[in-house]
Amino acid sequence: MTTTVDAPVEAAAERPATFDSLNPRTGDVVGTYPIHTAEDVAAAVARARASAAWWAGLGFEGRKEVLDQWRAVLARRLAQLVDVVHRETGKPHGDAQLEIALAIDHVAWAASHAGKVLGRKRVSAGLMLANQAASVEYLPLGVVGVIGPWNYPVFTPMGSIAYALAAGNTVVFKPSEYTPGVGTWLADSLREVSPHHDLLQVVTGFGDTGSALCRAEVDKVAFTGSTATGKRVMAACAERLTPVVIEAGGKDAMLVDEDADVEAAADAAAWGAFANAGQTCTGIERVYVHEKVHDAFLEALTRRARGLRSAADVDAPIGPMTMPSQLQVIRRHIDDALAKGGRAVVGGADAVGERFVQPTVLVDVPEDSEAVCEETFGPTVTVRKVRSMEEAVTLTNAGRYGLGSAVFSASRGEELARRLRTGMTAINSVISFAAVPGLPFGGVGDSGFGRIHGPDGLREFTYAKAVTRTRFKAPLNLTTFDRTPEQDAQVATLMAVIHGRATQFPKLRRPRRSSGR
Ligand code: NDP
Repeated sequence: MTTTVDAPVEAAAERPATFDSLNPRTGDVVGTYPIHTAEDVAAAVARARASAAWWAGLGFEGRKEVLDQWRAVLARRLAQLVDVVHRETGKPHGDAQLEIALAIDHVAWAASHAGKVLGRKRVSAGLMLANQAASVEYLPLGVVGVIGPWNYPVFTPMGSIAYALAAGNTVVFKPSEYTPGVGTWLADSLREVSPHHDLLQVVTGFGDTGSALCRAEVDKVAFTGSTATGKRVMAACAERLTPVVIEAGGKDAMLVDEDADVEAAADAAAWGAFANAGQTCTGIERVYVHEKVHDAFLEALTRRARGLRSAADVDAPIGPMTMPSQLQVIRRHIDDALAKGGRAVVGGADAVGERFVQPTVLVDVPEDSEAVCEETFGPTVTVRKVRSMEEAVTLTNAGRYGLGSAVFSASRGEELARRLRTGMTAINSVISFAAVPGLPFGGVGDSGFGRIHGPDGLREFTYAKAVTRTRFKAPLNLTTFDRTPEQDAQVATLMAVIHGRATQFPKLRRPRRSSGR
């Protein structure tokens, strides 16, 4: 195993200098990685800084060339990376391949759209400053620290890494302690394309290494992980006033309307809730179903859930829980739901094993139980009957998270989507918004703030630079001590002409009378 940071592993005999990454299916050691200290992190950031000017100077086309070569390497070595993801997370090969394929799409999109989104644009200077040529462009910040989770160890950090790189920054990436091999593989693959520059380095270790990255001289931190850690990241970044993007947890709801395609909704709910063993930030964790179709939906979802299993063999559609400590959270949520009057129609208290959790469908669960309010991050879902979609909207918006949501409706999907207080909504599908590179990805409330992906995701890793250029000597110069009282009077006249008539506009806002025709 190699890493891109030269950690003083041998020199630090008095502290545990390495840690093992384990295969959650088997418990076998996948690889051994350095625990990078604050000094190691600072050294990586300094190297990234040294490469940042070269990278920014390459311009959009030059960077696109490098990123295009990188995505070609990722695509050619897909099977190799799939295997590393499979071994470190336990997820099925097909699921690992899907997340990498989508990540490659993001690299392509970011590289080919950066110039258009971030390049210099003329802006109208307005009547008062008609002699000025005004423009705005979005310049790279410098060095971006990316901290990522383990559940989608390629797709999730790539949503920050690809966009930060395309915008002209270099990156120091701290992967989760559960997936250091995936992070290292990604950095090594970019180094093959650009061997002489530190465009993407990896620092490995535990929370302390991530914390050191927040306190290092980075120009922005892009964090993806739990809400609790996100708050710690913000506090650490506050010390140097380092800006942050926080992509945190979710408790996504699905709404099923009375006119929905019930079979399609149940199929999507099963995948949204149980795929990746429920370890998906935008996974479906609660469903609100119109009373007219509730029983049919529950029957269809139950049938599908019973046909799934979580097991060690490679044919199992659902793998193990990657992080053992999550098992306690899932057990606690199921127990709490059952203790408060809920029922398990599939799975339940016995579903939680030593590494594997069987799909669980819970009904009659009170809205104040942990299974409804807190992120479970396991293959469980609650289903609740509602009298109307208004009730479903109210219950969805009552939660403190606001990441994604899904609506199944034949006639009013758009209308319902706009009323849900979540950063993203999929209509008649689940999670599809994450796979559209041109769309922003991110949440509100306890799901965090800031956006990755799309034009917003590119701008997130830049600062806006405003420039004005004097084109000719203005007859009315406002920024001089030579300004005369006559010119001040001209300003007043100009204001009356430009803005003074605005007060008449309310008359125009009166409802139009019907012509009767
Ligand atoms: P954590 O919050 O536990 O960890 C996320 C990352 O932060 C890891 O790399 C972790 O390192 C690191 N970290 C831990 N402590 C600190 C610290 N004090 N300072 C800086 N970094 C630190 O999340 P998980 O890895 O368990 O991931 C699951 C969570 O991620 C879920 O809540 C899920 O919803 C969320 N998520 C959100 C997404 C989104 O886009 N909104 C997408 C995917 C997941 P280490 O592992 O070494 O402790």
